[in-house]
Amino acid sequence: MTIQTVGIIGAGQMGGGIAHVCALAGYQVLLYDLSEEKVENGIATINGHMARQVSSGKFDDKERAAALARIAGASKLEDLAGADLVIEAATEDETIKRKIFAQLCPLLNPEALLATNTSSISITRLAAQTDRPERFIGIHFMNPVPLMKLVELVRGIATEDTTFETAKAFVSSLDKTITVAEDFPAFIVNRILLPMINEAIYTLYEGVGSVEAIDTAMKLGANHPMGPLQLADFIGLDTCLSIMQVLYDGLADSKYRPCPLLVKYVEAGWLGRKAGRGFYDYRGEHPVPTR
Ligand code: NAD
Repeated sequence: MTIQTVGIIGAGQMGGGIAHVCALAGYQVLLYDLSEEKVENGIATINGHMARQVSSGKFDDKERAAALARIAGASKLEDLAGADLVIEAATEDETIKRKIFAQLCPLLNPEALLATNTSSISITRLAAQTDRPERFIGIHFMNPVPLMKLVELVRGIATEDTTFETAKAFVSSLDKTITVAEDFPAFIVNRILLPMINEAIYTLYEGVGSVEAIDTAMKLGANHPMGPLQLADFIGLDTCLSIMQVLYDGLADSKYRPCPLLVKYVEAGWLGRKAGRGFYDYRGEHPVPTR
């Protein structure tokens, strides 16, 4: 099956990033979110990121304009009806994702492929809620999508070989490297990364170190390019909490219990960089630790 038009649900950090790389690779993109304003903000952010890439010499302004012209905002799910592949990149919440698939499936061409960018939720379980489990797959991009090389491909129990091969060819056409992960909670990257981030939050919660001490320790002591709390803010603390909850529920092991301090930050709406505040306050000129 050839993919020409890609529908993307969710114009947030990830949906915007996926739209960005798809448009640059020559695909027609339909970008949908809950309101026209969110879609417009998403497209404006993509334009800003592309302009930065033009300044750093990645491609020229003509290519930026051509790629941007390939992205159309969608104000209703019906607008995605003509897509050959739809990638769901909405909030990490199983109820939200299920509702989206229930509304979307009857609108799609029966041959269309459906993918989710979920960080942690079972592909088999999500697929089972749709009318096309054999044409459903996990395509898990990393954040920020334009910069990160890796994409995890995750098959559900019913995913057909042709779906997997089409997804593989699609991801390769975006110049990304694929790893294949089995369908277990949080797959490979987040199964390893999120418990480390959660442990960093426990380290803060127990007063072992300040935000600055923990991030500096891991940057200079473990050679990580970003400290774990800075990275948590970058991922989004709501997403971090959801992933820990999926690990905790899915693997039934107390070692995955989310740190109460992470819960508190999410309850406060301090969701990290996207909310202007998390373990750091981003509202001033430089990020300032909040603890
Ligand atoms: P985000 O909060 O930046 O964006 C989520 C978007 O989904 C928002 O714009 C929201 O309005 C939209 N949305 C919510 N309900 C919707 C609905 N019913 N229909 C359409 N749009 C809806 O979150 P994000 O970081 O972009 O994460 C999106 C997905 O990508 C999640 O499944 C997350 O686990 C996954 N993911 C995130 C990262 C990361 O580092 N943040 C990395 C890989 C994968």
